[in-house]
Parts: sequence; structure tokens; C-alpha cells
Amino acid sequence: MDQAAIAQAARILHGARRAVALTGAGISRPSGIPDFRSASGLWAQHDPTEVASLRSFQTNPQRFYDWFRPLLEHMLAAHPNPAHLALADLERQATLQAVITQNIDGLHQRAGSREVYELHGHLRSATCIACGRQVPATPLIERMRRGELPYCACGGAFKPDLVLFDELLPRGLFWLAQHAIESCDALIIAGTSLAVYPVSDMPLSALQRGAALIIVNKDETYLDQRADVVLHEDVALALPAIIAELKRET
Ligand code: ZN
Repeated sequence: MDQAAIAQAARILHGARRAVALTGAGISRPSGIPDFRSASGLWAQHDPTEVASLRSFQTNPQRFYDWFRPLLEHMLAAHPNPAHLALADLERQATLQAVITQNIDGLHQRAGSREVYELHGHLRSATCIACGRQVPATPLIERMRRGELPYCACGGAFKPDLVLFDELLPRGLFWLAQHAIESCDALIIAGTSLAVYPVSDMPLSALQRGAALIIVNKDETYLDQRADVVLHEDVALALPAIIAELKRET
């Protein structure tokens, strides 16, 4: 691992008062959750942008659940990894103000993070697509796992409160996330290649306001050239290394 980059990231965070983290599928991969957007393995035969769209769900919810079930199993079996724990630790030290995530697995909260903006939704509740009734998802999850379609009393299908590919991000949450980014002095991008709009554009407003940028991601991102620190490493190794270095300095 690039120790100079680790040390520089720690120095930036040491001086930061309002750091924010933006995370994606890469931070949950070490927990065993595959990235369903990169069509591989279980999902190679489906185009997720088609199966996991609201339009498709409305006409054929069974097809969505057949596609979703393997992903659900991975998420139910997963535990937070050292990258999630490192960000929760940074929040406890009052350096990190918020985690903005594209993940739906809830692992940031399970790791202890409190201020989490889940831009793509979560699995804690579900909403009937016909009447809009919202219910806790836990009782429905066993039905989903058995291959049953979770139906509402009105006859409509329950959809987990995820943001599907043709849906807009929740406005209030997006605004909170944007506000956190605009007022941060250091932005950590962890486990996302910044390939999905509009999240891909969010770091630009931090850069425009002079925030430092730390990127920890296996693959390149379009902002690597503008970042103060770039680590093309496993987030579950690099983030704990940065926090350990930060603790040595303080
Ligand atoms: Zn209903």
C-alpha cells in the first residue's frame, strides 16, 4: 500500500472539521455483496436497468423478485467490514459529518454510522405500488425468500423502498446529501467509480468550494486527476489504514 498516500489522507482528515464520505458498491464487496450494476455472475442474463425498473416492476413484479432474490440473500448474510467500521469510527471522532451511500444494504448503520443518507433507498420498508401503503419489510422478506410475491390487501404488489433505475432519487434526501457535500472541507470517495448520474456529479460542488478530495477505489474514477489523494486499493484495507494513521497523529 502507498504509505505516503495513507499519511497524506490522514493529514487531510486531521485538519478537517466537516468531512463527508460518499460510498458505493465497492465498500460492500468485501462483505460479500456483489455489484449488481456490473452485469456479471448471477445477473449476466439480465439487464438490471430493465429488470430493476419501476416500469418493469409494474408489469411483472415476479420477474423483479426472481432477479432480486439472490442479491437479497447476499445482503441478509452480510456483515459490516473494516471499511464500514472505519467510517463509523471517524464519525465518533467528530471528523465525519455524514455518509452518503448508493448502497441499500444498511451496513453503514450496522457498523455504527448514524448520519447516513441512503440515496438509493433501503430494505427496512416496502410500499404498495397501487395504494401507496407503506409497511415494515421484515415480515415480507421471508415471503420474498420463499419466492412468494408480497401483495397488499388492495391487490397491488409491495415494492421494497429502493430507488429503481427509472425512478428519481428522493428529493429531500438528495438535498440533504448535496448540502452536506457543499459544506464539507474534505470528501472521501470510497468504493464507487462515480459512474452513475447524478451521484457522479456531486463531488464537483465540494471541489468548487475548495474541499480536499480523497479517493479510495479499486478502479480509476474520472476525478482521480483532481484528487489530493488517490488509493487504488481495497477499501477494507485502505480506510482502516488511514484511520490508524490518523489516530497515531492525534
Ligand atoms: Zn395496496
